[in-house]
Order: sequence, then C-alpha cells, then structure tokens
Amino acid sequence: MSVRLLPDYLVNQIAAGEVVENGASVVKETVENALDAGADQIIIDVVDGGRTLINIVDNGAGMSREDLEKSIMRHATSKLPNDDLMNINFMGFRGEALPSIASVSDMTIDTCNGTDSNGWHMDCTTGEIRPSDWQNGTRIRVQNLFAKTPARLKFLRTDRAEMMSVLDAVKRLAMARVDVGFVLNNKWRFPKNQPLMERIVAVMGEDVRGRMRPVSAESGSTGGMKLSGYISDPTLRRASSVDQFLFVNGRPVKDKVLVGALRAAYMDVMHAREFPLCALYLTVPPTAVDVNVSPTKTEVHFLEPNHVRAFIIKSLREVLAQTMVAAPATEQKMSFTGPIVSNTNNNMTRNLHCVCQPNVFRNSSFAPVQNNSLNIKTESVENIFDNMPLGRVIGQIANKYILAATTDSLVVVDQHAAHERITYEKMRTGAIKSQPLLTPIVVHMRAEDVTAVLSIADEMKKSGLAVDAFGDDAIAIFEKPADWDLNWANVLHDIADEVRAYGHSAQLGEKLHLKLANHACHHSVRAGQKLNFEQMDALLRDIERTEHGGECNHGRPVYKFIPLTEMDGWFER
Ligand code: ADP
Ligand code: MG
Repeated sequence: MSVRLLPDYLVNQIAAGEVVENGASVVKETVENALDAGADQIIIDVVDGGRTLINIVDNGAGMSREDLEKSIMRHATSKLPNDDLMNINFMGFRGEALPSIASVSDMTIDTCNGTDSNGWHMDCTTGEIRPSDWQNGTRIRVQNLFAKTPARLKFLRTDRAEMMSVLDAVKRLAMARVDVGFVLNNKWRFPKNQPLMERIVAVMGEDVRGRMRPVSAESGSTGGMKLSGYISDPTLRRASSVDQFLFVNGRPVKDKVLVGALRAAYMDVMHAREFPLCALYLTVPPTAVDVNVSPTKTEVHFLEPNHVRAFIIKSLREVLAQTMVAAPATEQKMSFTGPIVSNTNNNMTRNLHCVCQPNVFRNSSFAPVQNNSLNIKTESVENIFDNMPLGRVIGQIANKYILAATTDSLVVVDQHAAHERITYEKMRTGAIKSQPLLTPIVVHMRAEDVTAVLSIADEMKKSGLAVDAFGDDAIAIFEKPADWDLNWANVLHDIADEVRAYGHSAQLGEKLHLKLANHACHHSVRAGQKLNFEQMDALLRDIERTEHGGECNHGRPVYKFIPLTEMDGWFER
C-alpha cells in the first residue's frame, strides 16, 4: 500500500468526529459563529432533536461571496488576524466547524453582508453558489445530520434527550451573552439586553429568584483576575450540574479547575452529592489562559491553575460567609404594631418581659422594660430589629424550633442546626477555649490509628484538643475544649477514620472541625431539648454573628422567614 493524502471529504468527516458530536454541537458552533459575526438576535429551530433539521438565523455581519466560498474550506477562518494563538478574542478560530458540519449533513448557507448588491445561497454539498434574495445576516440550514455517516447516527440518543442537550447548549450561550436575544423553537425565549439576574431566572427557573448572591471580586496583585456573577444560596441546590454556568473570558467552559474550586467553596455548606447553582464569569488576561485545548473548546488550560483556584475559592467563600439574615423582600414595609407590644395584658407580655433583659438589647437604644409600661415608639422598636436580624424570641415549639418575630416576619429557627453551625464556625476560626485536664484521658487504639491521629495533632490543637502518644497503642488527651464532655474514644476513632479516608488533603482540617462539631452538637443542644428564653436568645444572637449562619454544616437551612405578606395571604387580607 502506498502513502496517500486523504480526500478532503474524508478529512472533514474525521474532524467532524471531534467537533460535531450531535445536534447540540452543531447549534453551539453555528451560534458561536453568529456571535462572532456580531449578531444580537439569533433564532434557532431544531426538529427531531437536530436529526432532521437545524436552522440558525442571525442578524450578524454576513459574508461576501468570496468569504462564503472559503467558509467551508478546512482551517479557513477570519478570526486569527495576527496568527496569535495566545490572544484569541473570538469564540471560534479553528476554521473547522462549517466544513465538518457540511461533511456529515446536507447543509446550505444563505448570507448577505449588506455591501454586495444581493445575498448569496450556497449548497455546501456541491459547493455551488448562486445569488439569492436573502437580505440580512446569515442563515445556516443543516438537514439530515449524520445521514452520510450511519455509524455516527447510531450514537444519537432519543430526540428528547438530544433536544435537552440542544437546550443546554443554548442556555450556556444565552448566559454568556445577556446582550444578545435567543429564541429556540419559538418556545424558549431569552430577550436581548436582559439584566443578568433576569436572564438567570429565565435560564434556571423561577425558584432561583431572590436566592442567588452576587459575586464581584478582583485579585489585586496576582495576575489581574476578575470574578463576577451570582452563586446560589446554599439552601438552593440541584441534583446535577445543569445549572452551573462557568465562563472564562466570556467563553462557556466546563473546566476542572473551576468546577473543583466551586465545589471546594461550598464544601462547608453543601453535601458533595449536591450541586450549587452559579453563573460565574472569570476574566483573566488572554495570555494567562490557553483555550486551544480541545476542539469543542469547553476546556481551557490556565497557566497558573493554583492561583485561579485559590482566587475563586476565596472570593466565593467570602460571599457564602455573609449570613443571609435579611428577610425576603416584602412589598410594603410594615411598622411594628403587633399585639406583643401593644397589649400589656396578654400572655405574650410576660414573654416579652422575659426577653427584655439588658443583655438582649445591649446594642439598641431600647431601654429594658420598666414598671411594665410598654410605651415603645415604633422607631425605637425598629432600631432593635436593626440589631437583631433574626428577631426577638417569642417561644419554642416541640422543643425543636425557636420562634422569633421581626417587624415584618415570623422567624423559625432549627435549634439543632443553629447550634451545629455555631460550634463548627467557632472551631474553624479557633474561637474554642481549651481546658487542661488534671488527669489525661487515655484512649486505646490500634497502632495505625494512633499514627493517623498523631499525624494531625497540630490541627487538633487548633480545635482545642491536645493529644500525644501513650505507648504504641493509645492516645492521651491532655487538653480538651472547655465544657465539652464527649465520648472521646468515639471521637478519636472517628477522626482516625477520617484521616485514612482523606489522607493529608487540604480539606482535612475542615473535615476535622466538622467531625468535632457533629460530636459536640449531638452532645449539647439537640432537637428535643427544652430551652429557656435566655438560651434561645443567646442562640439567635450567636447565629447572627456567625459566618455561614444561614445553613448548618450539611447545607440544611438553619432558619426560615415567614413574611407578614405571606400571612396576610392566609387570611385573605
Ligand atoms: P471559525 O469559526 O473557527 O472561524 P467556522 O468553520 O466555524 O470556523 O467558520 C468559518 C468562517 O465562516 C468564519 O471564520 C467566518 O468568517 C465565516 N462564518 C461562519 N458563520 C458565519 C456567520 N453566521 N456569519 C458570518 N460569517 C460566518
Ligand atoms: Mg466557528
């Protein structure tokens, strides 16, 4: 057999194997081309999941006859004017998409650039071009995808599944460019110039409204990175990564570094099997990232992935640490006129009296109750609430939930979750006091467990636990967190398991705190424990001061606001 160059159509079909996986990739490539051509309105129609027809119409710059002819030639592109692969400002640049798609389908292009006296129509199978009355922008019509390559056709999934992939591709592009309008099958509409938050709701669903937190961060010295967008409140999550939208320099990516950093940022507040939602836009200098990694370009190579990772984790953790104590926005601001303060003779008065101890109102201008007169002016009551975002305790239900009231909401607090979060954060920030023991506590363990525990003795010290070896098969505890009387044998065995499971990863310290917090709270404030007002108030004030106060270590909510407006609805007011 002699060596020969493969015919063009075969080369293209081979390339198509990489670039054109399914209808969604055709949509992605052609929409990216439309964006590169400056379109701000793109209409996409897809029939049978893309198998039968994909039709993309844009109002971009269009092509001249010569450009149209070249557009389906391999590696023909208008987008690398300086031949500089390190400085790429367009979505596409390989010049592979159109020839690849043309080689595995029946494709036609209509285009008009506004300078030629008429538009042009090309049949991409024959390469034939004729004048047409197409007037504005470009239409790419792709029929019978993979009909010429039956082996590929077999890999298409059901039309429904393919359509979902198309929708996902369009959503990713729609999140990349809120300035551009997209319409898919006349059903999914993303109007142009939508404010980012509106586009997020349109793409992710109504349930995210009011539950996304804005991100805006800049890496001062290290490499001029910027991160902006929104991430979900930890109580909002999905069972898959569908609603994670990540962009690098405006390009939608599914990059390991970014996905890993996102997960790491939520580690404290969300289970590893759940997925936070996000629309995150990372901007880095074009020379700090290589986008020329995969033909579909959803992966990127950062020159300094560790910097990028650290920057993202830090920025997101700062956002997550802000306790979301603001009650959901209510339509009108209610003044505080409830029976609790206005009626001195009902039962609640006693309760109010009970919580009106000086320490409760330490930060407010409100004076403690005197001679039972409750002539409180509305403003001063509102001042109180400024300092008490979770409101004033009004009672406990089922020894499990604390009830509190703000000016315009009822607040329900899960006392167990609250305590768990407080303990964990104290441990994490080193705020736990330790207490030396007169007699060390000795815990017998297997030699390998002893080694495992000793290997993280320094971390344990930070959590208030000072340990050392006691012979080969025991650990002695010399100092423990004050007031904690736990089953220390269980705790140490648990820690040993954790060390073996996670090795000496960066996460170990946090895992350790988490373990200890779990042990600690099973021991102290559980669901089912009756609390007095002072204890409840202390818990609420503590949670207000705690980072991540809004959710427990497992990401369950710690408290919930029931706005007055919602109550009014119950009573048809
Ligand atoms: P690339 O996008 O990598 O340059 P493609 O094969 O996707 O390669 O497209 C080839 C060329 O065809 C582009 O560089 C562009 O000049 C032209 N082109 C493709 N689609 C459009 C469009 N919708 N509007 C205007 N020009 C287009
Ligand atoms: Mg392209």
